[in-house]
Amino acid sequence: MSAFESTNQTEIAGAHLYRNNARAIEISNENWEKAKENNLTHLKVNFSGRNESYELIETGKEFINICSCSYLGLSSHPAILQGAIDAIKKEKVLHLAMSTLRIRLGMKQRLEDELSSLFNTTVIQVLSASVANAGVLPVLASGHLTDGKPLVMVFDRFSHFSMAYMKPACADETMVLTCPNNDLNYIEDVCKKYPRVAYVTDGVYSMGGIATLPGLLELQEKYGLFLFFDDSHSISIKWKVGEGYIASQLNEINDRMVIIGSLGKGFGANGGIIMLGATKHADILRRYGGPMGWSQDMNVPGMGAALASLEIHKTPELTALQEKLEENIALFDELYPTANAGNGFPIRLATFGHEDDAVAAAKKMFDYGFYTSPVFFPIVARGKAGIRVMLRANLEREEVVRLCDCLKKTEVDIKG
Ligand SMILES: *Cc1c(COP(=O)(O)O)cnc(C)c1O
Repeated sequence: MSAFESTNQTEIAGAHLYRNNARAIEISNENWEKAKENNLTHLKVNFSGRNESYELIETGKEFINICSCSYLGLSSHPAILQGAIDAIKKEKVLHLAMSTLRIRLGMKQRLEDELSSLFNTTVIQVLSASVANAGVLPVLASGHLTDGKPLVMVFDRFSHFSMAYMKPACADETMVLTCPNNDLNYIEDVCKKYPRVAYVTDGVYSMGGIATLPGLLELQEKYGLFLFFDDSHSISIKWKVGEGYIASQLNEINDRMVIIGSLGKGFGANGGIIMLGATKHADILRRYGGPMGWSQDMNVPGMGAALASLEIHKTPELTALQEKLEENIALFDELYPTANAGNGFPIRLATFGHEDDAVAAAKKMFDYGFYTSPVFFPIVARGKAGIRVMLRANLEREEVVRLCDCLKKTEVDIKG
């Protein structure tokens, strides 16, 4: 006899309260297939060394990537590449292959200390922003970043996949709700009913749009609402030291707040960060934050790159790159206005409506020499498919002008 205990349960499928792969795949997988058939996924390239322009290995076709999150162009910055090389030469090991909770390189400690001082708060540096979300959310849900009692977790409907992905894990600890995008009334109603509530959202949403920070801070003041922000998209791209939208608006990150960030987008290195207000709970998080404390952390070249990027963040070069990005965004908005024109952030969506049209538009744009990505449900609402365009500092003025011309031509081709 094995230890298996028989149950009377006959239905094997789960309740799908927070996740339903069968439904998601049924609705959207055919669009992925279409994108694949049109050679818009699985592209194999050589990096040609300038401006995120690539060469397709099969045909030699050159194109410019308009879907890179390296908003300041730092991921190929010579000083950052050199930082990676110097680090591996100095440490003579790729990584320690064990939890940094137990043993860490001096370089890791220096990186966390310098990030903490740059962003003027306690920073825990982890493998990626997704790992940060996976680690922090369940610990927050069970109340272990606060007073030990579980909080009702209200996820914004638009919160990034990496957060929504953790709903089932949070739901095993506490009540999980999903609110309409930026719906302060909904959040307030939950706060009126339950003593402990956390709201989980992006700072700057992946499809444009931003969190309603002033209203959220009022709810925190009034009800003690805990605020969890993932501000990955906005790190480095603006503000004095690139602290991100949310941190830039606050005097301090208080002990009822967490901000997640990415070092792999604007920052130009890789890895993720947790800006933690509740500093006294840092050790609990390191011990119980799942993938935050397993055998892989950011490797040595990654740390060297991040330290080099940190130096750039202290110089006027950061400001110059931020200004160039801002110029490119403004030029794009002037030549090709979209729904998010004027918001100052680099992500734009050219809407085509039907999924087939979005794929056809992306294919046209690729023929013109620009890689843009077709996006469809569940990334955007059904019937609102389009192509995502992401501006960068390292695009020449003429390239932005040409990009906009091609978008206009494509629009005529597709919509008539
Ligand atoms: C890009 C992004 C992530 C994923 O970041 P990784 O570091 O690649 O895990 C998570 N959240 C948001 C909001 C993002 O934009």
